[in-house]
Amino acid sequence: MTSCPVPGCAGTQKTGKLMCLRHWRFVSDGTQKEVYRSWRAFNRAAMSDRSGKLAAYRVARDKAIAEATREQQLHDGTDPLDRMVKAAEGLMP
Ligand SMILES: [Zn+2]
Repeated sequence: MTSCPVPGCAGTQKTGKLMCLRHWRFVSDGTQKEVYRSWRAFNRAAMSDRSGKLAAYRVARDKAIAEATREQQLHDGTDPLDRMVKAAEGLMP
């Protein structure tokens, strides 16, 4: 089990899954397909071709995480900027 990459989420997901199921549901169908497709392409790729495939997967993964994070913020009903300000406050000495 690894922890969910969406900020503030304490959820966990099964090995091999990108994020917790709750957040995965926030990701659009198109982006979910991109994640699966790029991951399969990476797994099928020859060793010499893997770094390019991994880069493509990471782009899709980051997009999925960004979508889930944005949806989570909408559900929280807080302004993302407001959250950033609050987060920055926590970093003040
Ligand atoms: Zn989560």
